[in-house]
Amino acid sequence: MTKLLAFAEIKDGDIRNVSFETIAAARQIDEGAEVVAVVFGNKNVEEAANQMIQYGADRAVTVTHDNLENYTSDGYTQAAMAVIEQENPDGMVMGHTSAGKDLSPRIASKLDSGLVSDITAIDGEDFVRPIYSGKAFEKKSIKDGKKFITIRPNNIAPLDQDESRSGDVASLDVEIKDIRTIIKEVVRKASDGVDLSEANIIVAGGRGVKSEEGFEPLHELADVLGAAVGASRGACDAGYCDYSLQIGQTGKVVTPDLYIACGISGAIQHLAGMSNSKVIVAINKDPEANIFNVADYGIVGDLFDVVPKLTEELKAI
Ligand code: FAD
Repeated sequence: MTKLLAFAEIKDGDIRNVSFETIAAARQIDEGAEVVAVVFGNKNVEEAANQMIQYGADRAVTVTHDNLENYTSDGYTQAAMAVIEQENPDGMVMGHTSAGKDLSPRIASKLDSGLVSDITAIDGEDFVRPIYSGKAFEKKSIKDGKKFITIRPNNIAPLDQDESRSGDVASLDVEIKDIRTIIKEVVRKASDGVDLSEANIIVAGGRGVKSEEGFEPLHELADVLGAAVGASRGACDAGYCDYSLQIGQTGKVVTPDLYIACGISGAIQHLAGMSNSKVIVAINKDPEANIFNVADYGIVGDLFDVVPKLTEELKAI
C-alpha cells in the first residue's frame, strides 16, 4: 500500500488551511494510500494532529521540541528526516508556503528524490503547475523514487471535516540540535483581517485608491464579505498601504474564489499574482484598462462611487 505524508503547518498556534488540502492532494495521488499527517511544534501538537485526522488523514506522527516553536530550516529538516526514516513513505505533500518552499527541496535533495512545486491540480500521474507567471500550465510527473510536492493554497479543496473520525497519534522523540538560526522575536505587522494568502475573497486596491484613506471603502467592503484586503505594487510604492499586502510577481500569489480589483490597471506583474483567481471583478474608470481582459465581470466607473454602493447592497442581503 502506498504511504504518503501530509505536512501540517501551524502558524500563530493555529493550523493553516493548506494543511487540510495536503491530505486531499495525497488522496488524489492515490485514493487507497495510507495518509499520515506530520505535525511539528513545541506544544499542543496533538490537537492539530487530531484535526488532520478529522480532515481525512489515517493517523498522525508528531514531533514536539522547544526548537520547533517557529519554522527554521535546520529544525524542521531534522524533524522531517527523522519521520521519513521511521515511516519510509512513498512521498510527502506540503503547502507551497514559505515553510514548504524551503523545506521540500531540502528533504527531496537529501533523499535524491523528485520534487514538483506549486501544484494547482493533480491529473492522474501528472502534477499540474502554472508557468510563465500563470500564462500557461505544464504537467510534470515523478517516475522513480519518493514523490515530493508542494500545493498552491486554495486550489485543491480539502475533504469535509468529520469530527467523529479518529486515528492513532504517535509522538516521535527527535533531538533537534545545532540550529544555526535563532529566532529571538517575531514582530508582526498589525493585521485586523483575514490572512491574504488563504483568503477566499480578496478586495484589492491599486494606485486608483489615491491615498491611505482611499483604502477605507475597500476595508468596509472586505468586512461585509469576510474578505482580506490586498494591493497592487503601485499602491504599495505610493505609500498607501504596507508591502505585506502586495499581490503579484514580486508579492503574494493568491487564488481566491473571488478577487475584486479596484483602481488596478492590470499590469502583467500584478496579473502574475492573481489571474488564476476563480472569479475576477474589476472596477476601473478606464474602459481600456488591461484588467478587464482577465475579468469575469467589469464595472467601468469611479471606485469611490461603486465600492460604497456594493457595500450597501451587500449589507442589505
Ligand atoms: P496604475 O497602473 O497606475 O493603475 C491605476 C489604475 O487605477 C488605472 O487603470 C486607472 O484607470 C485606475 N483609476 C484611477 N482612479 C480611479 C478611480 N477613482 N476609480 C476607478 N479606477 C481608477 N505590480 C504589482 O501589482 N505586483 C507585483 O508583484 C509587481 N512586481 C513587479 C516586478 C517588476 C520587476 C516590475 C518592473 C514591476 C512590478 N510591478 C508589480 C509593477 C507593475 O508593473 C505596475 O506598475 C503596477 O502593478 C501598477 O499598479 P496599479 O495598477 O495600482 O497602478
